[in-house]
Amino acid sequence: MSNAIFNIAVPYNEPVMNYAPGSPEKKALLSALHAAKSKQIELPAYINGKKVLEGEKVSVHPPHEHGHTLGHFYRGTKEHVHQAIDAALAAKESWAATPWHERAAVFLRAADLLAGPYRARMNAATMLAQSKNAYQAEIDAVAEMCDFFRFNAYFLQEIYREQPLISPKTIWNKLEYRPLEGFVLAITPFNFTSIAANLCAAPALCGNTVVWKPSETQIYSAVVIMDLFEEAGLPPGVINLIYTDGPEVGDIVFKHREFAGLHFTGSTKVFQHLWKEIGMNIDKYRSYPRVVGETGGKDFIIAHADADPVQVAVACLRGSFEFQGQKCSASSRAYIASSLWPAVKERLIDDLKTVTMGSVEDFGNFVNAVIDERSFDKIAAYIDGEKKNPKAEIISGGNYDKSEGYFIEPTVIVTTDPKSTTMCEEIFGPVLTIYVYEDDQWEETLKLVDSTSPYALTGAVFATDRNLIDQATKALANAAGNFYVNDKPTGAVVGQQPFGGARGSGTNDKAGSALNLTRWISPRLIKENFNAPVDYRYPFLGE
Ligand code: NAD
Repeated sequence: MSNAIFNIAVPYNEPVMNYAPGSPEKKALLSALHAAKSKQIELPAYINGKKVLEGEKVSVHPPHEHGHTLGHFYRGTKEHVHQAIDAALAAKESWAATPWHERAAVFLRAADLLAGPYRARMNAATMLAQSKNAYQAEIDAVAEMCDFFRFNAYFLQEIYREQPLISPKTIWNKLEYRPLEGFVLAITPFNFTSIAANLCAAPALCGNTVVWKPSETQIYSAVVIMDLFEEAGLPPGVINLIYTDGPEVGDIVFKHREFAGLHFTGSTKVFQHLWKEIGMNIDKYRSYPRVVGETGGKDFIIAHADADPVQVAVACLRGSFEFQGQKCSASSRAYIASSLWPAVKERLIDDLKTVTMGSVEDFGNFVNAVIDERSFDKIAAYIDGEKKNPKAEIISGGNYDKSEGYFIEPTVIVTTDPKSTTMCEEIFGPVLTIYVYEDDQWEETLKLVDSTSPYALTGAVFATDRNLIDQATKALANAAGNFYVNDKPTGAVVGQQPFGGARGSGTNDKAGSALNLTRWISPRLIKENFNAPVDYRYPFLGE
């Protein structure tokens, strides 16, 4: 056993490489893409450090080229859930007893491996299986994942430093930061490789052991994450990756006495269902489980008449259409002042004419495919609904085609009904609905923004006058967990803009911050008396 060490310096954000033509990073990435495309691989589950290839064989395809097969995973059974729980519980004692800086070293090493030899492979996997272009993959699967690992190690150190303010004479007060008793379940979404890694890594860093159930459309990059953890020295059983269906996993985990917490990111509906399951089983658990969930959004942009129309148009385009609008933070409703609208509209439509859509392997494409057929059909149905809506006009896009890949054009709808379906519901695709309000309706429109959706994840205000910015910031105090002034509402950076929303958007525990880590810790206070009393009588008992 070594002494605990507290010398992790404030980290830096992993620099984002630009993949310009002829750059060495582009060459390495093209070669990794080629290598991945030229073979089919078996994607194992990882239970207790062992690779498991058992269960129903399922093929994996790039969303932008569904005729191509990248490999196969094996959908697990209930037996794999039991095995993963048993492995997590067996690994717990030793991992929890590992000095915190030794645990941190695994993730710090993982960050350096990812920034170096794993960079191209992780990006290629995310590009091919989740249809992210090179830049979108780089900011997610490399930069953000490195940041999660490095910043969480630093934040945990700062948490561990927190000790009771006072230890009076003869008394020593100490806070011991224990992991939770039992195991943690991580259920992760398809859209961010970094989120998938972080939902497992954050509790594990704190000394917990984890059962990880990923989204089926992220398994191809999940396997790269497991290889990375293993190479960084993560002991077997600390994180166990399984491919059993979500409801089957829940059926076993949520009835298990040792279930200690859920780290979830995904849709609001699924999270609410899981919370209900946990509530129904509350009398079965040893401890009250920690329930952390970051969920859906209906993120907004509101532009005052005095805003810069070009900035607004560019924010709408990047905020709504990067990664095909499949970011929880993507703007999908905008409120633009009528005097500003003609200039915003002109620029937005002109810019969209230059946006190209297609495979991630062609670096000229800004837009790629949506994740799968189910998503494609759902988004197309929203667009079709608006085509028939007399209050809506599609001013750009509106077409879709799934013959080769799940392609949906970036679509801009202008509506005269600010409570129309596409202004209220999360579509999770490249669809932006705009409501043009009269200039003198600014205050009413702020109220409308606040009351239109049950979500409160991200939002942005564009205005020049400081009083207007202040007014919007106050009026929308509860409408977004991440609020942006004169900037698009996407692209939160770890260490800079801790991310998470409230209302229907989640428990707002701010992934990649100390706030999140505290959810995976159960502190024990130890009071030690160096000179314990030897007489029960207090002085006041005298005459
Ligand atoms: P999803 O809810 O469909 O799936 C999320 C995960 O839950 C997947 O692993 C899925 O297999 C699993 N799941 C589904 N039903 C289950 C059940 N009954 N029991 C157990 N597990 C179950 O979400 P998705 O499509 O992967 O991701 C998109 C959603 O995630 C959007 O709503 C988006 O807004 C949200 N999201 C939120 C944030 C955030 O930080 N707030 C970040 C990313 C994504």
